[in-house]
Order: sequence, then C-alpha cells, then structure tokens
Amino acid sequence: MIKWIDVLKFANNGNPTPDKKVEKTEEEWRASLTPKQFEITRHHGTERAFSGELCHRYDPGTYACICCDTILFDSNSKFDSQSGWPSFTQPAKENSIKYIRDDSFGMRRIEVQCNTCDAHLGHVFQDGPEPSGLRYCINSVSIKHVEKEETNIQTATIGGGCFWCVEAVFQRLKGVLKVESGYAGGKTKDPTYREVCAGVTGHAEVIQVTFDTNEISLENIYEVFLTTHNPTTKNRQGYDVGTQYRSIILYHDDAQKETAEKVISNLQKYFDNEIVTEVSKFTDFYKAEEHHQNYYNDNTNQPYCVNVIDPKLEKLKKEHKKLLREN
Ligand SMILES: [Zn+2]
Repeated sequence: MIKWIDVLKFANNGNPTPDKKVEKTEEEWRASLTPKQFEITRHHGTERAFSGELCHRYDPGTYACICCDTILFDSNSKFDSQSGWPSFTQPAKENSIKYIRDDSFGMRRIEVQCNTCDAHLGHVFQDGPEPSGLRYCINSVSIKHVEKEETNIQTATIGGGCFWCVEAVFQRLKGVLKVESGYAGGKTKDPTYREVCAGVTGHAEVIQVTFDTNEISLENIYEVFLTTHNPTTKNRQGYDVGTQYRSIILYHDDAQKETAEKVISNLQKYFDNEIVTEVSKFTDFYKAEEHHQNYYNDNTNQPYCVNVIDPKLEKLKKEHKKLLREN
C-alpha cells in the first residue's frame, strides 16, 4: 500500500518504472482528445469542482487514463471526499501513477500523472481515509470508467507434498474444472521431475486447480488443502522429505493472499503444532511430465496409492462430504 512517505519518496527520488511508455506529439494528442481533455491532461488544467460526471459514480469497475487506456484506479478505492472531484485512496498498481512536486500558485503540492503517458490527472493529498491516509484528487475528464469483466473461474496453486496425492484429492471436488500437477515457487526455468526431486531448484511439487466459484469457494479449496495434508511439518510429508515437499500456497492476487492467511489462522486451533505452510506470490507454473498427470486414477493399485493416497481420500470423504462430486 502506498502511503504519504512513499509519495514523497517517489516525488523526491524518482518514480517507479511503468509497465510501458506511450509517447505522442502535441498534435497527435490534440487529434485524439476533445479540447477539454486535451487542455486538462496535456496542459495541466483543472475542471470546475462538481462538474465531473464521475464524482458520484461508485459501481464496480476500474478507471483508465483517458489518453492511453492504462488502468489507474479501481472503484473499490474510490470514496466520497465531498471535494467535487473523483477521489481515490490508492492507485490500481504501484507503478501506474507518477508523482511530481508542484509549487505553482504559491502552494506546495504533489501532482499526479499517468505514469504511462504523463497525462496530468490531479494532485494527491495526505488527508484521505485510513489505512493509506491518501486522497488522490482526480479530474473526471482525465479518466474513464471501465466495466470489470466478471469471471467466476479462478485458479489456485497449492503444494502439500507429493503432487499425486494432492491431485487425487482435488479431482474429487465439485466445481473443480481442471487439475494439473507441476512445479512452482522455485528459481529455474522449465525444471524436470529429476531436478525438482534433487531439491536444488527451489521448486515445490504443486497442483494448479481451476475451479468455478459458483460451485466451490476459494476458502473451501484452501480448507480441503490444509486438512488433507499435514501443514505442520516443515519440508516434509510423511516419508517424503525435502523442500520440494513443503506445504505452500502460491497466491495469484491480494484477495487470494488474504483468504489464505484467514483460512490458516482459522484452522490453526485444530492442529497441535504450528501451521508452517508458506504463503508466497505466484510467479510461474511448470506442468509436470505427462505420466505424472492423473497419476492416482491411472495407478490405483500401486503401493504408494494404496498406502498413502487411499487414506487421504477416505479422510476427504469423511470430512468434506458436501464438497464432493456426486459420483
Ligand atoms: Zn495515460
């Protein structure tokens, strides 16, 4: 989260690097914008208070730069500041906004610009609501509302020891559309099973679950995960020992991170020992070799399946009956 101290740091020591840069000539901007948009975004204009149509809009979605379409703010950070200009507490991403010291009109202010195309947006002040304490005061004319694509399909990446086990569990849940075994959380590109098993690449054996949130929640996914392996043994599941067998949740966004932390803290009381599940940001997933996919279903009589996986599935049937597929 960006706070006032970060704003000052960016304004004084340099701004974060944007994902990309868009540069056009004065004439090109003039041609692609209305006169009012051009005046405000390219010539540091300010619209009259309460004149902007986005002042009273709070429906879900995001707000993009009128000049270059970069997403600048999310509607969940918009609040009613009663100032007469659309106000936000946070940018959509840390590097979407650029901060410039502005000593014009005898005031010491921090101007905010689109970090992609340098469009003037407004100013940021330190009188916003907690927790950020910031108020990004933005000209309506500089931004546009963009509907958010509603999706009920989500992906979760989790590792709880041998991926054959975890895969078998999640294949039996309703709402799960796809389960893939693979490697994540390590340092090298395209690791093989052999490399991962040697424990030197830093990868964990994980599964990637694609599921429909209308049928099963992310919370349910994490609960099943934490109760069908042992999340209290560091770098080990039963006889499987090594960092590749560590208990890990790789979150894809902040909402997943929050849910993971919440579920872990809710479930802690059911365990005698501390839950040591690592919660890290997802970066890459490498699908494992084909013979590791659908392993339990294709090798039901193999001793590992009978001795290790069968008991896990029994536990699943007992504890999560409601979440299982019909057949
Ligand atoms: Zn822009």
